[in-house]
Amino acid sequence: MRIGQGYDAHRMVEGRPCVICGEVINYPFGPDGHSDGDVPVHALIDALLGAAALGDIGRLFPDCDDKYLGISSILLLKETGALLAERGYRLVNADVTIVAQRPKLSQYIDKMRHNLASALSVEDSCISVKATTEEGMGFTGDCSGISAHAVVLIESL
Ligand code: MG
Repeated sequence: MRIGQGYDAHRMVEGRPCVICGEVINYPFGPDGHSDGDVPVHALIDALLGAAALGDIGRLFPDCDDKYLGISSILLLKETGALLAERGYRLVNADVTIVAQRPKLSQYIDKMRHNLASALSVEDSCISVKATTEEGMGFTGDCSGISAHAVVLIESL
């Protein structure tokens, strides 16, 4: 068994599609980024890579590479899952926490879990997605940014 942890944060800007865990959310601001800026997916990718000691998202999918411009981060997650499978690892479970004052995410949580589980070819029950706020404090509190944490457990087959 191996554990991995990931963290990411992006600025929220007006007019960007608001894609969070592969769900397009009706909200006037969205995460800035080279890809679609899907913050919790980036945290989850880093947690997976960390667990397998395979580097980080920036090394695997460099943001100077036009190949990844505007790409769905769910596709990057799929690639990451395939890379771990190639190395003989299986995901046991993942726990993702999204930190955002707005938008409110509770109604999307089950769809988000399903999107992540599908990308990683695991049961929805292996994936937890939680949303919290920082009570109005800091960059998530004033809605200028969004952040996410992820923890994963993988096992060697
Ligand atoms: Mg990122």
